[in-house]
Amino acid sequence: MTDCIDCVVIGAGVVGLAVARACAQAGLETLVLEAESAIGTGTSARNSEVIHAGLYYPRGSLKARLCVQGRRMLYDYCASHGIHHRRCGKLIVATHEAQFGALERISTAAAANGVHDLRRLDAGQAQAREPALRCIAALESPSTGIIDSHGLMLALQGDLESAGGLLALRSPVLSGRVLPSDEGILLRVGGDEPMELIARRVINCAGLYAQAVAAALDGLPPDSIPAGRYAKGNYYALSGKAPFSRLIYPVPEPGGLGVHLTLDLGGQARFGPDVEWIDAIDYTVDPARADGFYAAIRRYWPDLRDDALHPDYAGIRPKLIVPAGQDADFLIQDTRAHGVPGLVNLYGIESPGLTASLALADEVMTRLENP
Ligand SMILES: Cc1cc2nc3c(=O)[nH]c(=O)nc-3n(C[C@H](O)[C@H](O)[C@H](O)COP(=O)(O)OP(=O)(O)OC[C@H]3O[C@@H](n4cnc5c(N)ncnc54)[C@H](O)[C@@H]3O)c2cc1C
Repeated sequence: MTDCIDCVVIGAGVVGLAVARACAQAGLETLVLEAESAIGTGTSARNSEVIHAGLYYPRGSLKARLCVQGRRMLYDYCASHGIHHRRCGKLIVATHEAQFGALERISTAAAANGVHDLRRLDAGQAQAREPALRCIAALESPSTGIIDSHGLMLALQGDLESAGGLLALRSPVLSGRVLPSDEGILLRVGGDEPMELIARRVINCAGLYAQAVAAALDGLPPDSIPAGRYAKGNYYALSGKAPFSRLIYPVPEPGGLGVHLTLDLGGQARFGPDVEWIDAIDYTVDPARADGFYAAIRRYWPDLRDDALHPDYAGIRPKLIVPAGQDADFLIQDTRAHGVPGLVNLYGIESPGLTASLALADEVMTRLENP
């Protein structure tokens, strides 16, 4: 007989683990199915590890709401679970006057999103904070920070298991079928021990593969699956010590936040991510992209030495295709959107998905409880 379970979460990235933790803590019998042999090897291991304040996103968007809410939840969670993090702050810098308008727009969007701690700095104030920096104005965001994302995922897994939830690694979901009469969804799982099981609730947190997983669910209307594309973000590491103690961001560019400086918790600096549109998943960092990095970084750090950068790693943004002029938002599709009881698909969970992970989990729970 096929096993039947309350809840299956597909994917053990930071979002899948946060969702699974919330399901298990709500008393649901919960199983996470992860294709790889470890948690968090996808986008959750290939990002800037920044706790975003919630500055850039359009008012009323899921990104705006869940980033601000998720950031507060995340700082509390880090404190209560001993997760290594630092509220180091960040500067968004204008290097020529044409960017003043962009700083203004960020201030306005931030205020509309409920972020009221931004400070406008002139060049002298910015350089007093970061002497190596060259800019003509900046915005300071004191509530931006950095986090050990793997430590976060281990803590989420710990909570999940303490609440009775299970994690199955090397267990890719191959396909599924929506059963009649609200009986649930039959999932076929590959890996070392192929199996079939029926889940009353399925939450698709497969990240870059969310559309592929959805397309393999027989009974989900194909036209409910949004078109997406991949935007790779390459990182370069800095040899030697970073001269900055805060994160340094230029004004945003189309598709990303601009080649910025982030610090890891050991104080090591890296620059990125840039935006490279790609058709297939490939994490190789092309050394030829270095020229673009030197040029972008020297706009705000002219003393960057030749040969100080070396290719580091890349992550891939699961972008949703939206009409020109619109900003892509997170897309959380529940029964009301696609008609399948108990199924929630998460699409386009790019930045700030790490920051928003705990709030995304709450949002999924709300959608499951109010179909
Ligand atoms: C370059 C870059 C920089 C970023 N920087 C930041 C940042 O600084 N701050 C921030 O808040 N956010 C940032 N983000 C966004 C953040 O990293 C993501 O939103 C978040 O990691 C997404 O987590 P996830 O769990 O949805 O996806 P993933 O981490 O990709 O997890 C999906 C999981 O699903 C599994 N899977 C896929 N298919 C199947 C299947 N068929 N069966 C079972 N398992 C499957 C995968 O193996 C994977 O483990 C960044 C993203 C990128 C690309």
